[in-house]
Amino acid sequence: MATINANFQKLAQNYLFAEVAQRIAAYTQAYPQRRVIRLGIGDVTQALPPVCVAALQAAAAQTGTQAGIRGYGPYEGYEFLREAIVQGDYAPLGVALLPDEIFVSDGCKSDMSNMLDLFAPDNRIGITDPVYPAYVDANVIQNGGLGIQYIPCGAADGFIPQPPTGQPLDIIYLCSPNNPTGVAMTTQQLAAWVRYARENDAVILYDGAYESYITQSELPRSIYQIPGAREVAIEFRSYSKAAGFTGLRCGYSVVPHALRRGGASLNRLFMRRQSARYNGAPYIVQRAAQALYTPDGRAQMQASINAYMANAATIREGLRGAGYTVFGGVNAPYVWLQTPGNIDSWAFFDQLLHTCAVAGTPGVGFGACGQGYLRLTGFGTAEDTQRAVRRMVTQL
Ligand SMILES: *Cc1c(COP(=O)(O)O)cnc(C)c1O
Repeated sequence: MATINANFQKLAQNYLFAEVAQRIAAYTQAYPQRRVIRLGIGDVTQALPPVCVAALQAAAAQTGTQAGIRGYGPYEGYEFLREAIVQGDYAPLGVALLPDEIFVSDGCKSDMSNMLDLFAPDNRIGITDPVYPAYVDANVIQNGGLGIQYIPCGAADGFIPQPPTGQPLDIIYLCSPNNPTGVAMTTQQLAAWVRYARENDAVILYDGAYESYITQSELPRSIYQIPGAREVAIEFRSYSKAAGFTGLRCGYSVVPHALRRGGASLNRLFMRRQSARYNGAPYIVQRAAQALYTPDGRAQMQASINAYMANAATIREGLRGAGYTVFGGVNAPYVWLQTPGNIDSWAFFDQLLHTCAVAGTPGVGFGACGQGYLRLTGFGTAEDTQRAVRRMVTQL
């Protein structure tokens, strides 16, 4: 008899976005004449950069010729893209990487889950609260989530996670700039985690999905800008939020040669893992990603990011001016808003929906420490965002 992985029964119900959608639907049914402005969007809305469309078309046409066919590509991604990443993303930061320290993939959510294959099931796993839910789910599926230790984050520390005292963590998930809180770590804050990882032989899984949204030039863009990080950190990046690739699917992981545990190179282990369980990202998609490293590609990518960040600034400044306590929105498209009078996240969600016809995402859906907060995003249109903020400022 086939028995199933009982860990699936331990997964939290994936109810957050379903519940949000259901409450909006009920409201729309009751008040069909009111259009709900959705500021809970967690996906890009701007068109794909034209350089990517051109690269996709050219690559597709090429593979339609006998001379240009592409079958299975390298497990770790084509050299042309890994070279572009090393030269375009890291060399300007003063971070010297080799192309074979880069693993191109179909995105960073899968990479961060796949990376768990490298580790024994009995590690103590540090996960921040609030958090992007995928890290928790991946650990629960892998081993029931037995090793998870939450790292509580709150307003007192500006929602920046602090290394814990007590029993050391073995694997630590960090995300900066952060989803859902929108805050980004300083060099000093990140260096404290690198020091912690070195002292405890821990490994940091660093989610840099929003790196391209950093506007404050003094902030670190890569964990490898911190001395000593390459012995303790794996960095994950994605073209999803940076360049509108949420539907195309492409990202990469950096596993430095210097990262070794138990006498083994994690780079070699991940290469072996990929060759066993993955056959590489599509050629045409990797060509589209490569196009982003041209001057036109850079400019087009930046234009979309600027549009989202202008919306985030509209939300942040509008609400701050009205007396709200807000986090984020400067180096990430997310604004993390303290509910007025610290009311419950869902109660404020309902109040906002019913009074202003504006929808956000209840902070408690990202973890217990998100209670009393709401996440708003800059992924809407400029007009909608301005209208929503005006309503919040005048009607709530
Ligand atoms: C959107 C997002 C990602 C991106 O995942 P992809 O699989 O590359 O689309 C990763 N981490 C966080 C925190 C995100 O919000």
